[in-house]
Amino acid sequence: MRQVPDLVEIKAMDSADTLRSMRDQFTLPEGIIYLDGNSLGAASKITLQSLQEASQEWSQDLIKSWNKAGWFELPLALGDRIGNLVGAAQGQVVVCDTTSSNLYKVLHAALAMRPDRSVIVAEGGSFPTDLYVAEGVMSVLPDIVMRLEGVDAPDIENLIDDSVAVVLINHVNYITGELRDMAALTQTAHEAGALIIWDLCHSAGALPVHLDEAQADFAVGCSYKYLNGGPGAPAFIYAARHLHEKIRQPLSGWWGHARPFTFEQTYAASAGIGQFLCGTQPILSMRALKGALSIWDNVDLQVIRHKSIALTDLFINLVEAKCADYGFELESNRNGQKRGSQVSISHTNSYEIMQALIARGVIGDFRAPSSMRFGFTPLYTSYEDVWQAVCILEDVMATGAWRDAQYAVRAAVT
Ligand SMILES: *Cc1c(COP(=O)(O)O)cnc(C)c1O
Repeated sequence: MRQVPDLVEIKAMDSADTLRSMRDQFTLPEGIIYLDGNSLGAASKITLQSLQEASQEWSQDLIKSWNKAGWFELPLALGDRIGNLVGAAQGQVVVCDTTSSNLYKVLHAALAMRPDRSVIVAEGGSFPTDLYVAEGVMSVLPDIVMRLEGVDAPDIENLIDDSVAVVLINHVNYITGELRDMAALTQTAHEAGALIIWDLCHSAGALPVHLDEAQADFAVGCSYKYLNGGPGAPAFIYAARHLHEKIRQPLSGWWGHARPFTFEQTYAASAGIGQFLCGTQPILSMRALKGALSIWDNVDLQVIRHKSIALTDLFINLVEAKCADYGFELESNRNGQKRGSQVSISHTNSYEIMQALIARGVIGDFRAPSSMRFGFTPLYTSYEDVWQAVCILEDVMATGAWRDAQYAVRAAVT
């Protein structure tokens, strides 16, 4: 059996953890080990307080709050705060809409900037919405075709040539957690004359991201996963400043207008990143996000990354030591530097096993066809959580508890 730390050593790791006190800022229920912050981040006290304040602003100041409470400025103000977390200088990130709709805007705009080219390169293993949105864009631009990694060639690099307009890529794979080299792939795309769009859904708040340094063109991401903005919290768009004048995004609504309150008859895009706005934004969700982002003011993403790798390494080692006989296969990279903040393991009965875990208070999720995903959020996950989770997994397997028929019933959200 592999040598793994015991509970005494694991408690010592928690005592030495400089992020330990952050957990108190969240409102996690007793008895729950929450390993799904990569799908829906936990609520924090300050986020809920922010929602309370927003309800006051709405009920007491009504429409005056657009000016008085800064509602109208929230998309750009929050964009700059997220910019700090993804390596973007001010004025290049805006918070708005959903990742899916933002992908549409950005992909369409990027294709229009390479009118002589006709290819989108993406990943067969992409989070599906990226591919669905690309299909939607192609339905209005019939000359565009898509090449997929894993379908048309094993490696994305082999798909990038001088016919490629845009490379659309997930920074961290949603199933395996595989982490791409942003600087290297951006360079490959640029050397071929293509633009690149990074989907940061599983990296914003999970690890340091360096958009400016990597010279990325565009990025999108969501704020309800590692940024803990709340269910359906608005997403974000990054566009490098030097591109702003050349962009024409297709959803040209009044919030992206240079002068929305002159109510002109024709569209004139706003000059900066605000041109990616379309219509009135979900202010209550933005107010919640404002609270959630304030947590990050005193957090060093290098420390987050260090703990994230330690948590995921510990999980892998414990699963391999304690659950070696149960037919699990590791789907994530064993090298912590090459994965995001999650670990996936596969099993023929992943769905049932995950349901049995959830019934015992260990919340991860299932991704078809056979993955159990465990997300590790350094802000509120302890090393002891990891230990407990694996002990419960071991018990669910050893006792066969997962075979209970109730765990085979499929819910709408897995
Ligand atoms: C979660 C996720 C999305 C979600 O898109 P929504 O429009 O917010 O539903 C998109 N892309 C990736 C890679 C994701 O992980």
